Amino acid sequence: SATQPQYIWFNGKLVPWQDAQVHVMSHALHYGSSVFEGVRAYDTPRGTCIFRLQEHTRRLFDSAKIYWMDVPYSESEVNEACRTVVRENGLKSGYLRPLAFVGNVGLGLHPPLDAKADLMVAALPWGAYLGEEGLKNGVDVCVTSWSRLAPNTIPTGAKAGGNYLSSQLISREAKRNGFAEGLALDVNGYLSEGAGENLFLVKNGVLFTPPATAAILPGITRDTIMTLARDLGYEVREQALPREALYVADEIFMTGTAAEVTPVRSVDRMKVGAGSRGPVTEQLQNAFFGLFNGQTEDKWGWLTPVND
Ligand code: PMP
Repeated sequence: SATQPQYIWFNGKLVPWQDAQVHVMSHALHYGSSVFEGVRAYDTPRGTCIFRLQEHTRRLFDSAKIYWMDVPYSESEVNEACRTVVRENGLKSGYLRPLAFVGNVGLGLHPPLDAKADLMVAALPWGAYLGEEGLKNGVDVCVTSWSRLAPNTIPTGAKAGGNYLSSQLISREAKRNGFAEGLALDVNGYLSEGAGENLFLVKNGVLFTPPATAAILPGITRDTIMTLARDLGYEVREQALPREALYVADEIFMTGTAAEVTPVRSVDRMKVGAGSRGPVTEQLQNAFFGLFNGQTEDKWGWLTPVND
C-alpha cells in the first residue's frame, strides 16, 4: 500500500519491506525467543527526533542479556539503525520496532552456544494507540480476570515476545467485553499494569504508580512522567496499591510508547472522578507532548534527531 514503508533494517542492511523474511523453523516462532522495543519518532521544531532512543536500546540489550541472547551489534549500531530506518523511509514521525530473535538454529529448545540473534528494525506511521478521542476524553477499562506473570516465572523486566501472550489474554478479554483496555493485578492481588501500558493514579494531588515488584515492565514513558511530574512539583510514590484504589482515585491514566499518556474515564463501569480527563492528567499530557512541539524544554536530552 501507499503508506507501507519501503525498507526494513535487517541484520545490518536496509532491505525492501517484502524481502525481510524469516524461516518457518525460526526458534523464536516456536519457543518465543525474541526481545523487542517500541519506540516513537516525533516531528519536532528541531526536525524528526527519536524519543529516548538510548534508553530503549539499553533496555533491548538488557532484555537480551536476561535470556542469554547474543546480539551481534553494539548499542550505538542499533541507535544508528533506528535513525537510518526512519530517515530512509522518509518518515516525519512514526513508531519503531527493533526486534532481536533466535532464528533458524535448529529445533532444540536450547540454542547452540555460538548462536547469534537476528536483529531487525522496522519503522512505520502510527497514530494514537487508544485513539485521538481516547487521548482527550479518556478510555473505559476493566480489571481482567487474568493475573500478570508471577515473579520467578517469566521476568516482566525483560520485554520479550513471550510476555505478550499474557498481554494478549488481558486485552482480548477486555475488548471482547467492550472495554478499550484491560488492567491486571499481580499474583499477590495488587495493581500491576495494562496489557501494554503502565498505570498511574492521582489522589489528593499525589501521583501513585505500582512498583517494579508488581510484575510491571518498567516503562520509559512511566519514567518520563515521573520525571516531568516531579519537575512540576508533584510528589510521586511508587508503592503497592490495592484494587480498590482504582475506584476512589481522583484521576487515572496509562502510559506507554504506543499509548503515550491516555486518561482513564472509567474502571469496571465505575466513573473515575468526574468521568472525564482530570486536570493533573491534562497538565502532564501537555508537559509530555510539549517535549515534541517545543513547549517543554528538553532538559534531559531525550530527543535524538534522525538527521545530522
Ligand atoms: N507495560 C507493558 C507490558 C508494555 O508492553 C509497555 C509498552 N512497551 C509498557 C508497559 C510501557 O512501556 P514504555 O513506556 O517503555 O513503552
